[in-house]
Amino acid sequence: MPEPTTVDPHALAQIAGLPRTDRPLIICDVDEVVLHFISHLEIFMGKQGYRFTDHRYRLNGNIVGTDGTALPKDAVRALLTGFFDAHTANQRPVDGAAQALATLSNRADIVLLTNLPGRHNKPVRENLLANHGIRFPLVTNSGPKGGAVSALAAGRRQPVVFIDDSPTNLRSVQSSYARATLIQFIADERFFASADPIEGIHLKTNDWRHTCTYIERLLGSKGSISELL
Ligand SMILES: [Mg+2]
Repeated sequence: MPEPTTVDPHALAQIAGLPRTDRPLIICDVDEVVLHFISHLEIFMGKQGYRFTDHRYRLNGNIVGTDGTALPKDAVRALLTGFFDAHTANQRPVDGAAQALATLSNRADIVLLTNLPGRHNKPVRENLLANHGIRFPLVTNSGPKGGAVSALAAGRRQPVVFIDDSPTNLRSVQSSYARATLIQFIADERFFASADPIEGIHLKTNDWRHTCTYIERLLGSKGSISELL
């Protein structure tokens, strides 16, 4: 288990500006959870001669060029920055996400927590989400999300639910805020199928209807995860 993660100061400043309530809280990632990401990235990088060699859950090591050589870490970072600058305005929503979040917002606060590169991209993403009926506070973070989740959860009533596709972020939250109910949501079918189970994760899914029902039951059980297991 990794060490508890400290919070990115820029994320903390955004969190400090959110209204404080004692309602249950759902902290939800955006890329590959609320908006499609992998399918857009594949098209973007394909035009530059890059492709995935497998669909295991990492981006470092499985993106290769035409000569079959894996892209080094800094080149992957540059590729992602270029992708978000080009496509933040037009990523497609994941089926059922808007409706599920709207339903759940009747009983819990919802905060979208996204590792979106480029501060200029935040209003672009907010605008796109709003156009799809997804109007919740958006916090931009960098690095593993445990510290930001811990800060968001301070003073909250249970349950606090964290939804993300990334094993790194899920493990970071596990070690930084142990009371969170953890949901691994991966919209892309190939990455979903090849994602290894993570110990301690409460639900692994690619279905927003199932996710909504699961969280509604959790909210109804006053946050005791043991009642659902
Ligand atoms: Mg994601």
